[in-house]
Amino acid sequence: MDHSTEPIGVDEFRASATTWLAANKATAPRDYGAICPPDLIGAGIEWQQRLFAAGLAGIHWPTAHGGRGLTASHQAAWMEECAKAGVPPVLNMVGLVLAGGSIMRFGTPEQQLQHLLPTLQGTRVWCQLFSEPGAGSDLGSLSTRAERDGDRFIINGQKVWCSGGRYSDWGILMARTDPDATKHEGISFFLMPMDLPGIDIRPLQQITGEAEFDEVFFTDVELPADQLLGPLHGGWGVGMAVLTSERGHIGASVIGLERRLESMARLAEGRDLNPLQRQALAGLLSRGNAFKAMGQRQGPVASTAASLMKLGITEMMFDAAMLRGDLVGAAAMLDGPDAHGMLAAPGGRIAGGTSQVQRNIIGERLLGLPREPKPSGP
Ligand SMILES: Cc1cc2nc3c(=O)[nH]c(=O)nc-3n(C[C@H](O)[C@H](O)[C@H](O)COP(=O)(O)OP(=O)(O)OC[C@H]3O[C@@H](n4cnc5c(N)ncnc54)[C@H](O)[C@@H]3O)c2cc1C
Repeated sequence: MDHSTEPIGVDEFRASATTWLAANKATAPRDYGAICPPDLIGAGIEWQQRLFAAGLAGIHWPTAHGGRGLTASHQAAWMEECAKAGVPPVLNMVGLVLAGGSIMRFGTPEQQLQHLLPTLQGTRVWCQLFSEPGAGSDLGSLSTRAERDGDRFIINGQKVWCSGGRYSDWGILMARTDPDATKHEGISFFLMPMDLPGIDIRPLQQITGEAEFDEVFFTDVELPADQLLGPLHGGWGVGMAVLTSERGHIGASVIGLERRLESMARLAEGRDLNPLQRQALAGLLSRGNAFKAMGQRQGPVASTAASLMKLGITEMMFDAAMLRGDLVGAAAMLDGPDAHGMLAAPGGRIAGGTSQVQRNIIGERLLGLPREPKPSGP
């Protein structure tokens, strides 16, 4: 593999990445998607370390931050080749896309120096501390408080659905710093060490039986003030930039989707499908191809159009899991991959902003439809 920071064309880079993956993919954990499950975290960290050593971490990050200094198109080529090889392109999206991206964009030079290289090297693992019991889709209602006290903020409150909270070293946190401001204006964005006194992390069990996310309670946690990211009370802008990147990342898995559709088509081989099942399968395959074309047109840059891909792909994955269960028949109700697929599929329609919320964004921001009425006023 070429470690150099010399310019390299996308095709040449893709070819060298493919060669490297062929030689190394046996050492990778299975492709777990955006978030590393707790039982694979050791393997995920080792994989990230190997990627860094091979010059395949932070492909489009500036060289000053330990990256390769290439373009978003090189990064997209890497993600496609990883999807074809069935390996994760990064340890986790929260660290390598959300935390890394927001620190590069909004961080001070000191924050960039402190966090970016360890994140690329896989020695700093991140979680996302946004959702609360009373604030999910309506994130602006969050009530976790951060009160300034000299050179610290005192944090009190509760977060929920924090994927990988237990194994993370740091978290990206949104908390209310001005309770008197209108709701989106009194929020700030912080970088939070997860080992500070006063942090209590409790696993939450999902419908699949696994416990991939946690509740996180903060009681008088003393956070150094230099971990404020971006402007005080200006955290909403930072958070929205982060969420757009998250949707872009979720929607970017076109090749992964294509592989799923291929395996779907293979599942039909040798089965006597009824006309409705045949129609559903054909519909899924053509939707898959339409989203692939849209993804290629949209390119690797996250934007509000990322909502189209996020909505389309997660809804299709849900439908694919249901059809798979239908084709397998009663056996799909037994413990095993088919049942697991059906139980896990609804989560994709919720994580990173629900399907209904994506439809609102598409309606209002892409189609220019009137804004939905707000019960609490404008
Ligand atoms: C697998 C998974 C991983 C997650 N990981 C994390 C994480 O690491 N960190 C984190 O902070 N959060 C995480 N989340 C939480 C996720 O961001 C929230 O679940 C999501 O934003 C929805 O919020 P909620 O669950 O409070 O549902 P609500 O917002 O209470 O929504 C309930 C229902 O109402 C609908 N609804 C709400 N508002 C509207 C509206 N305006 N118009 C139409 N319908 C509406 C929703 O679509 C939904 O069907 C994760 C979730 C999942 C499923």
